[in-house]
Amino acid sequence: MCGRGVKLVADVPGMPPTGQLLVGLARLGQAVRMEAWRNAGPHHLSPLQADIILLLHGRGGALRQGEIVTALASTPPTVSDAVKVLRKKELVDAGRDPGDARVMLLGLTPAGHDEAARLAIQSEKLTDAVSALDPADFAAMLRGMTHLMRELQDRRAIPVSQMCLTCRFFVPQAHADPLRPHHCDFVDAPFGDAELRVTCPDHDPA
Ligand code: SF4
Repeated sequence: MCGRGVKLVADVPGMPPTGQLLVGLARLGQAVRMEAWRNAGPHHLSPLQADIILLLHGRGGALRQGEIVTALASTPPTVSDAVKVLRKKELVDAGRDPGDARVMLLGLTPAGHDEAARLAIQSEKLTDAVSALDPADFAAMLRGMTHLMRELQDRRAIPVSQMCLTCRFFVPQAHADPLRPHHCDFVDAPFGDAELRVTCPDHDPA
């Protein structure tokens, strides 16, 4: 066995299945990153600068720099440099935390919010490719990806995401309907693997 539930077939050439999957994921990551560079927009954003804008927008409020570092699994100097550039571009501003004057909070300016709205429009090329998947493959891929993300989160290899699998409102396999077996207590509705969230504004850690 190679990993859980994956059988090695001796006469198939190349890396074992786990290696093949990891190479495939790396290729997909490259494609997403390349699209991010292509989508630099009028402010010539790097992928990290774009990630910071989307994070501040998604959290709906100002964040400490340390929170940005943790959420993006980056390093303080790297985020600090990116924030400096974003402040120069007048997309991010800083203010004192009203609860603790020693702490600086970073938030989006009106131009930053405009930029977040532009960035929220997903790449047509990537969206078209994902939309071309068979619905069953799409659901299986989303299910597999969320489980892999949780494994990596447990091993502290990636930052914690606001996803269904770690949400207190998520009730897996609550219904007999094979297409919509799960239940979201937040909206009190059943849903299927194809609707699993890897980022959700209503997530509450379990
Ligand atoms: S609130 Fe969001 S993250 Fe939580 S179970 Fe419902 S859809 Fe999933």
